Amino acid sequence: MKRKFTLTVIFALALLSAFAGHGGHKRKVLVIGIDGCRADALKQEMDSGHAPNMLALCNTGFYTLDSWHLDITVSGPSWSSIMTGVYHEKHGVTGNTYGGSNYNQYPYFPTRAKEIDTSFKCIQYTEWAPMSNNVYNDGWDQKIIGTDGYTQGTGAAASQLVQDPDVDLLFTYFDKVDLTGHSSGFNPNNPAYTQAIDSIDYQIGVILQAMRARPTYAQEDWLVLVTTDHGGTGTGHGGVSYEERHIWWIANSDRGVHLQVSGPQNAGHTTPPDPGTFLAYPITKPDTALQHQSPVQADIAITALHHLIYGSGIRPENQTAWDLDGRSWLCEIGLCDPAGITDTKADAVIQVIPNPSATGYFMVSCAGLKGDVALYVTDDLGRIVTEDRIPAASRLYPLDLSHEARGIYHLTLRSADRSVSSNIVTE
Ligand SMILES: [Zn+2]
Repeated sequence: MKRKFTLTVIFALALLSAFAGHGGHKRKVLVIGIDGCRADALKQEMDSGHAPNMLALCNTGFYTLDSWHLDITVSGPSWSSIMTGVYHEKHGVTGNTYGGSNYNQYPYFPTRAKEIDTSFKCIQYTEWAPMSNNVYNDGWDQKIIGTDGYTQGTGAAASQLVQDPDVDLLFTYFDKVDLTGHSSGFNPNNPAYTQAIDSIDYQIGVILQAMRARPTYAQEDWLVLVTTDHGGTGTGHGGVSYEERHIWWIANSDRGVHLQVSGPQNAGHTTPPDPGTFLAYPITKPDTALQHQSPVQADIAITALHHLIYGSGIRPENQTAWDLDGRSWLCEIGLCDPAGITDTKADAVIQVIPNPSATGYFMVSCAGLKGDVALYVTDDLGRIVTEDRIPAASRLYPLDLSHEARGIYHLTLRSADRSVSSNIVTE
């Protein structure tokens, strides 16, 4: 025990000066929007094997099928929230004409990214023209309008665009699910509606294949975000019913850890508490603390932005001039290097030294987590290599991977209120 204690002290001291660097992959973002896709319909299609590409993104990613729409359940305001990181009180959009928009003060997130690095190349391909024609200060280098409802054409176009050697952000938008909902019903029992979801899922597979075929893919770190703007009921939307407000989002990276927050594969999942809706304002306003318990729409822009500008060390929520409403989930997705000194929130949470390790021994510090902490390590295929519990009285844990094959592992530490991950390497 004496020796272990001495080692612990040495490791603790070394933590003050040693930080593991991140892999150095070029960070890029692919956002895929599916207009008007109800969470229950998507879940049904994934559970029945009809949406295998989104299911795979869920199974190896971070997602929720139980999130809440906090604002006006109409496309213009919803996509504005998704792309600006603020709700309608700030971005000003309340309908599909985009009247009242305030993008000069609250721009699309590519504009914010370019404030940090002007060299970012950002492309939008949308089937829905108002999203292109009525939006300004959006930061796009290319804005392309496709044929509304032509799912296959959008898949083919996005597959080409995602192979642009210089692209850093691609946003692709599919309208077929919403169009079908308006003509024959937003309903998981409507075969036309679910087939529209399935056909878009197929094209998502095509786009992902093209992304992974990039010659430079091994040196890149693509964050893939897939989401919807609202649900629907009957043949419409715009109200505050459960079917219109119950939404979802999926985040995935081939370089992130395999985590699940909620959904069909996690038997223990619960629907997070409803933070409320801005439509009830000023009577009640959405609860900020509850908003932050579940990925919501404004979090898409902020998480994507955080990923793009990660190397700058700037955390979007900390930019008070940007006045953002949501939060980043990058650490939970597993793409926030807890050992790095660049992230103001994660650096105080967990640290691992040495990393890489030549012996297979690591000292893990979780000083920033409260209470009992569950620790687990997975290999590159997502298989659990080791798991343990760090009691509340201890914040240091000696991790032994000396008997495992040399390589890259994913370390996850989960407390009652947060989950933090890091890649660790034995060499
Ligand atoms: Zn819509």
